[in-house]
Amino acid sequence: MQNTIIGHQNIISQLQNAVKSERVAGAYLFAGEQGAGKETVALFFANLILCESDEASVPCAACRACRKIKSGNHPDLQIIRPDGAQLKIDQIREMQQRISYQPLEGPRKIYIIANTEKMNVYTANSLLKTLEEPPAASTIILLTENLNAMLPTIRSRSQILTFYPMPTEELANALVDNFSTNKEDATNAAILSRGIVGKAITLVEKGIGDSQEVPEILDETDLIAAFRLAEQFEKDLDRLDELVTWYRDLLLVQQGAPKEMITHIDAVDRLQTLAPRYSHIRLQRAIKTVLQTKSLLQKINVSKTITLEVMCIKLIQGR
Ligand SMILES: [Zn+2]
Repeated sequence: MQNTIIGHQNIISQLQNAVKSERVAGAYLFAGEQGAGKETVALFFANLILCESDEASVPCAACRACRKIKSGNHPDLQIIRPDGAQLKIDQIREMQQRISYQPLEGPRKIYIIANTEKMNVYTANSLLKTLEEPPAASTIILLTENLNAMLPTIRSRSQILTFYPMPTEELANALVDNFSTNKEDATNAAILSRGIVGKAITLVEKGIGDSQEVPEILDETDLIAAFRLAEQFEKDLDRLDELVTWYRDLLLVQQGAPKEMITHIDAVDRLQTLAPRYSHIRLQRAIKTVLQTKSLLQKINVSKTITLEVMCIKLIQGR
């Protein structure tokens, strides 16, 4: 497993302290966008709990437990993922049967459940029973991309840790330190990924130019980042159309439009998370700004750079 984890230092320290002081909770809920690092940190935590080396604050990578985890066959660690579009009640029931037995090799049995938001209310209620009376020597780590979609009763029985996007500069520096990438590419990846570590790493590995990610100025806060984005648009003006369809999708999602009407259907979960953050008027204004910019760019004697920079500033000021 990856030994250096990028970002989330506070969360990691908290989990390290829990292991060190033997105060590991029965249930955790890790919330954050896809790619934010929830699963990486959950695996790190599980590995730290199961590692046989006593003094380590990071998994030793050498003991029997660490080696088993690395090869994906430690009997006390299981990752459960949605079977198709949903986490099914049978998957939860199977876990409930197993979790009642004592751990086989480590101090605890650990279950990581991914995409917990993809559970219907019956499955969630079934899971709730285990969270209400967690078997001794067990820890369940729930991962979710949408904290608001979780039953309040599940939230209240879990220790919630939120994975926020990383600040541009910090993420860019970490990318330079951990990958053989230059500062400029790292900064662009940090901006385009909106601080989401997993996306930034994919961008650095794939090469920035191949990114299909929709840049989202409405999320950006600092001007430097906006200017960098303006540069990206200048290299590929088609992205302005993507921006328009993205904002339109947000408007449609806000109004509960059917999925057939959504353009960025692959990103529908993300659209649903973002839609409540923006007002209707702000999105309409953003679309207008981008369209005006497009028609301005058709004219001769217009500086592309300045026009795009002005657009980015307008989009930010709309907040
Ligand atoms: Zn170890």
